[in-house]
Amino acid sequence: MAKPNIEEDCCKGCGRCVAACPKKCLEMAVDRLNAAGLKPVVYKGEGCIGCGICFYNCPEPYAIRVERD
Ligand code: SF4
Ligand code: SF4
Repeated sequence: MAKPNIEEDCCKGCGRCVAACPKKCLEMAVDRLNAAGLKPVVYKGEGCIGCGICFYNCPEPYAIRVERD
């Protein structure tokens, strides 16, 4: 199992990871803002294959990383 681990308050809401994810399993939050007042990215809850493309496309060092069992 793999999944993205998102630090919402580090996310700038740029959407690069959403666009880059080959499984389309990321989306921008629609129900809340982070501490900076930006919509953070959220994991849809399934579909992640652990490829790491989201991590490599993110300009913020601590916003998203990938966990693999
Ligand atoms: S690791 Fe790959 S499949 Fe999983 S959320 Fe990131 S880009 Fe998408
Ligand atoms: S996790 Fe990174 S790439 Fe994804 S929306 Fe947030 S800042 Fe942008």
